[in-house]
Amino acid sequence: MIEELLHENCGLFAIYGAKKAAELTYLGLYALQHRGQEASGIVSSDGHKFCQLKGMGQVNDVFASKEVLAGLKGQMAIGHNRYSTTGSSSVANIQPIQISYRGNRLLAVGHNGNLTNSTSLRKKLEKEGSIFQTTTDSEIILHLIAHSKKEKIEESLADALTKVTGAYSLVFITPDSILAARDPYGWRPLALGRLNDAWVVASETCAFDIIGARYQRDVQPGEILLINKKGLKSFYTSKKVKHAFCIFEFIYFARPDSMIFGENVDKVRRRLGHQLAKEKPADADIVIAVPDSSNTHTLGYSEQSGIKFEVGMIRNHYIGRTFIHPEQKIRDLDARIKYNPVKGVLKGKKIVIVDDSIVRGTTSRKLVGMLRNAGTKEVHFRVSSPPIISPCFYGIDMPTKEELIASTKSVEQIRRYLGVDSLGYLSIEGMLSMPSLPRENFCVACFSGKYPSKIENDIGKFALELK
Ligand code: SF4
Repeated sequence: MIEELLHENCGLFAIYGAKKAAELTYLGLYALQHRGQEASGIVSSDGHKFCQLKGMGQVNDVFASKEVLAGLKGQMAIGHNRYSTTGSSSVANIQPIQISYRGNRLLAVGHNGNLTNSTSLRKKLEKEGSIFQTTTDSEIILHLIAHSKKEKIEESLADALTKVTGAYSLVFITPDSILAARDPYGWRPLALGRLNDAWVVASETCAFDIIGARYQRDVQPGEILLINKKGLKSFYTSKKVKHAFCIFEFIYFARPDSMIFGENVDKVRRRLGHQLAKEKPADADIVIAVPDSSNTHTLGYSEQSGIKFEVGMIRNHYIGRTFIHPEQKIRDLDARIKYNPVKGVLKGKKIVIVDDSIVRGTTSRKLVGMLRNAGTKEVHFRVSSPPIISPCFYGIDMPTKEELIASTKSVEQIRRYLGVDSLGYLSIEGMLSMPSLPRENFCVACFSGKYPSKIENDIGKFALELK
């Protein structure tokens, strides 16, 4: 994706029964950095009390030394990388969020997703006397647990989850246990693994690979896991609903080396490229990717079409969050900072450029201008997902409907806006036939405008106002 406009809101990691659990959590979070770069946090337990460290910035910024990690004692820990979708970007909102409730019971949560009835729940809880420490929807789940009349934590959690709607993959820590849960629709991924005798839970399996853990299975939609000294207990409390796995995880968010929803991301991404080449062929000399997120899609396009894959654009990986924009007005500087065309590859060539998606189209247009300036003869733009026409309310940060270029413009209008010789998007049907799971298991709401679940009116409004 050219524009850094779509953000996953969180990466989760949890481990039970491992020496130096916090160190392993740090590594897991490091592998999950792509799911959230705004803040990071770890809460560990030594069996009696919690140790925690949270801060703004990337994993390496927050856990800056061995000494810092050594202070996080215990054989169990949970960790969280954050990119905010609800709740502002403030220190108070960094997760895991920790509470002490009902006679000093300790509990902390890490959440990936977005609740769709948070406004009404928050109002109700505040009316009943709850005082919130944060503006996140994740804290609502903690309050609901605290309000539950059930005695055991797993029962209180199950009770709380009957009251929330929307997307949630969750990890919890108590002084002597780890819990994990996934909403019945399964929007966000969550996997279960083993590291020797330890149990590991993570948003994506790339977090298992870094510590040498083995993938066991996904935490199933609607499942709650309790892991403690008695072992692992699994149970379901919610009614079964049609699954709604986020197809965008395959297209863009997840790392290609991860397995999500039981399938290898790289394989699905490559098949999306194959299908795109079948549906939207082009007469060209070379095919190039918008690096890095579109590399695998482009390889697929090349394999299917027989058009040679070339590295026609270089991405600068060293742009820190604090890049200072110089005073001089340089045309399209924001795009140039990040990408540079390889003139020797592009000059005089008819090219296909593959991107995984187009959001606003503004940066794509600048990039096309740069490709033209590099001396390309023709530019054919191919997108390995359908036009995005509606925002996401299930945990992906998207611009407003009006800002999504495909919500107001036809493909031909977008082609003219981008200034390309041809433009082709993958069809919804083509996209849905690429994962092995049946198509009815996926959410495609941002492409179809049809949401798999009810969204509170003011949540929709709130989500739109956020941008
Ligand atoms: S609306 Fe789009 S981004 Fe959001 S969960 Fe559905 S498919 Fe994923």
